[in-house]
Amino acid sequence: MSRLVFTGASVVVGDGSVLADTTVVIDGDRIASVGPDAAGPGPTGSVRPDDRVVALAGRTVMPGMVNCHFHATYHNLGSQPAPFGLEEPMALQVVRAVRNLERLLLAGFTSAVSAGAPFAIDASMKTAIDRRLVAGPRLVPCSRDISTTGHAGDRSFPSHWEVGALGAIRRSDGPDEFRRSVRLEVKEGAEMIKVFVTGGHGTVGPREQTEVTKGELEAAIEAAHQRGARVRGHIANKEALLMALDLGIDIVDHGDGLDEECIGRLLATDTPVVPSMLFPARFLASMGGASLGFTDDMHHDIEAMAAILPLANEAGVRLVLGDDFGALNFPHGPYADELAYYVDEVGIPSIDVLTWATKHGAEVFGMGEELGTVTPGKLADLLVIDGDPVADVHVLQDPDAMLAILQGGRLVTDRLPVDAEDPHR
Ligand SMILES: [Zn+2]
Repeated sequence: MSRLVFTGASVVVGDGSVLADTTVVIDGDRIASVGPDAAGPGPTGSVRPDDRVVALAGRTVMPGMVNCHFHATYHNLGSQPAPFGLEEPMALQVVRAVRNLERLLLAGFTSAVSAGAPFAIDASMKTAIDRRLVAGPRLVPCSRDISTTGHAGDRSFPSHWEVGALGAIRRSDGPDEFRRSVRLEVKEGAEMIKVFVTGGHGTVGPREQTEVTKGELEAAIEAAHQRGARVRGHIANKEALLMALDLGIDIVDHGDGLDEECIGRLLATDTPVVPSMLFPARFLASMGGASLGFTDDMHHDIEAMAAILPLANEAGVRLVLGDDFGALNFPHGPYADELAYYVDEVGIPSIDVLTWATKHGAEVFGMGEELGTVTPGKLADLLVIDGDPVADVHVLQDPDAMLAILQGGRLVTDRLPVDAEDPHR
């Protein structure tokens, strides 16, 4: 079988290291070898007659990126009556999900961990992608939002409308209802359960307010873990963050209120955090400085997170990418803007943000042994970039620089330099 051989590659391994002048061999769906060009005959130096050899002349090979907070159906540019388009007809939301998941893949994100979708759309999207009915990232499907009566998502629908909002939200009160909601979502195909633990971070609810009881969150986590699912929590204050860590939550979304005590607890529990700072930053920018009550909180939270995040990164907290693309004034599409934001506005070194996007992301996806680094034996989810994302992370924002996207060894995008291919080929 024909193999794909990249020579002269600069390899961003995904674990913080970079290899120059390297040959990467892809055989079937896996990375067969990664080694120096000068290795000569042997596992990395030998080229078979039917190999497709591409001389990259210093261009970059890196792991496919992972988005760890994605809402495939979100769509709100301020013109819809319902928040985020969540209560639009299911068929319309499915069309949007197909389109947005394909865009995510073509932006170089070969895997995604959903942060919630209505009507169990995610579960069907995962199946459709796995069967190759549509193109999209490997997907961990997430549940509807599970939240209490009167919480931010629920309150978006005024009580006099008398709608249940069951497409988007499972309104649950008390441990028994949380348990039942989790079980219903798992039955419908969710592998990740989204619980609204607090308001804040872009919701209409105050961030100080913890919106679930300890018993409710404990029941949700226990019920999910019993069925092999995980729980992620929308969390925007310190007390709720510490409570959720004590109860064994699997992913912290947003994490506003993070401080040094929280960093210590996150390291002890080895719990990943999705800081998702780009949405509030873009939302505030779109407001042009106008002050609404909650925008002052958002300003404060962004500044506080920008101050603490470099410390969390240095300390070794498992930080990952992902954000509320599709939320108000924050359209789907430019997904790699996140990497640029953390480098430009928060001062995180580009090599670290690349590790968030790859190795950390694969671990949070649940396939850290199979994905996330350019390592022999792993699945060949790889990108070929015309540029050096370590020197200039903005190259990932340029669609023309994305020369190839491989998913399980299959070329999803192939704009590899033909004239640079091996003349013997
Ligand atoms: Zn979200």
